[in-house]
Amino acid sequence: MSLLQINRVETYYGGIQALKGIDVQVNKGEIVTLIGSNGAGKSTTLKSISGLVKVKTGNIIYNGQEISNRPAHENTFLGIAHVPEGRRIFPKLTVKENLLMGAFSVKNKAIIKERLERVFRYFPKLKERLEQKGGTMSGGEQQMLAMGRALMLGPDLLMLDEPSMGLAPIIVEQIFEIIKELNQEGITILLVEQNAFQALHIADRGYVIQNGEIKLQGNGKELISNHEVQEAYLA
Ligand code: ATP
Repeated sequence: MSLLQINRVETYYGGIQALKGIDVQVNKGEIVTLIGSNGAGKSTTLKSISGLVKVKTGNIIYNGQEISNRPAHENTFLGIAHVPEGRRIFPKLTVKENLLMGAFSVKNKAIIKERLERVFRYFPKLKERLEQKGGTMSGGEQQMLAMGRALMLGPDLLMLDEPSMGLAPIIVEQIFEIIKELNQEGITILLVEQNAFQALHIADRGYVIQNGEIKLQGNGKELISNHEVQEAYLA
């Protein structure tokens, strides 16, 4: 069953057309990855979904409801969490404050506590560092914090933009393992990655985006063994 459907979406930055009519579907419970080189339009796709940039034509349907061009905070209420490229945690706030920002819409203290416990189950290090300022954490810890903050929202759809960027291979492994676990727990994942091999490895399905257009799509294994994909992204 489709959770998210992107239909013929075109997005511009001023006169620059970043998305040229893309179609992407994400079904409930899937891990779907969007791979492609620098500037292909991956981040713009996520931003178009979460409402950070305006869609010019086409539409985006989430859970049967059109969400194109809604304000970003309204989409978070619907259960869409977006972990942006470069993490964007609040560097001057503590780990705890960063996490609580993720639950800004939740008033019920018991739910906040439950969500914090869940975040600590996935990221035990965050529990040890609650009073540390976010900006003083390592890249891997900041990625964990950004993901933890997104989890505080209680998302049904978690969109991750380049979670592996700039991280040591061992940390990347951990992050991908956690993405799989979150998915097994029922969270649908839309994963943007330049690390195509690892992304396709854990994904149910993938899309290759090139110059604002979807060039290829298929299940993760098909795409890993596809010649064009191997030459362009797995070399
Ligand atoms: P990267 O990994 O480098 O971020 P990407 O696939 O995520 O690549 P996008 O960031 O979506 O690519 O960029 C798609 C196109 O839109 C590129 O040509 C980029 O230069 C352009 N673009 C992105 N953001 C802006 C912006 N704020 N203003 C103008 N053009 C932009």
